[in-house]
Amino acid sequence: MTDRTPLRRVLLKLSGEAFSDPEVKGGIDPRIVRQVAREIGELQASDGTEIGVVVGGGNIFRGNAPAAAGMDRSSADHMGMLATVINALALQDALEKEGVETRVQTAVAMQELAEPYIRRRAVRHLEKGRVVIFAAGLGVPYFTTDTTAAQRALEIGADAILKGTQVDGVYDRDPMKDQDAVRYEVIDFLAVLNQGLKVMDATAISLCMDNKLPIVVFELLREGNIGRVVRGEPVGTLVRAEPVASD
Ligand code: UDP
Repeated sequence: MTDRTPLRRVLLKLSGEAFSDPEVKGGIDPRIVRQVAREIGELQASDGTEIGVVVGGGNIFRGNAPAAAGMDRSSADHMGMLATVINALALQDALEKEGVETRVQTAVAMQELAEPYIRRRAVRHLEKGRVVIFAAGLGVPYFTTDTTAAQRALEIGADAILKGTQVDGVYDRDPMKDQDAVRYEVIDFLAVLNQGLKVMDATAISLCMDNKLPIVVFELLREGNIGRVVRGEPVGTLVRAEPVASD
């Protein structure tokens, strides 16, 4: 994808913060989870888009957070991975209430709750119109769910990663702190890395860059936005491998 085009199969990355009230920061707000589930359900029903979701866990626990200080990093990261499973189950419940068939697949086996991650089975679910929620990250410490999103998107052959955030794209400066910050409509991975722009962590960006997997960063909670991105409308910022000429 060098420019905006309709997307057939997507990997939606939902950070843990996407599950919580932005005012409260932390925990799960069922109204927000329901809103996201409704949008996913509508999109699937209207466009037949195949949707995989990678969920984060930062609203509950992060392995490198102050709450984990003094802990063994691997143990803390295991806690972080379990946090993503809690979010996955909340999203699955909300999607099912919307009448959307879902499967949760975890990278750490917990077969009483969810299927183990099996790539071929995940693709089959997508083909059958089920939303597949990928939980527990990659199942190994020292990684993030952003990197998981890049990895899973490549494995399932997604057209793009859709990264839903609280701001409406990638800016040259922090738009929360600087009113003059300018949003990019399209930017290349090299510029993201060189300018240290916060799109996803460097491991995830490198994986996307090396494999020419585009990312669309967009405002998650603006109603209808997931559908707009999937239909190729110019919302948010397209991050792509092909160089973007600077003015
Ligand atoms: N995590 C991990 N390996 C992975 C993915 C996640 O150890 O492959 C742990 C890590 O501790 C991380 C936590 O899970 O801090 C929650 O994930 P992340 O911070 O990516 O969540 P988000 O920022 O998207 O809410």
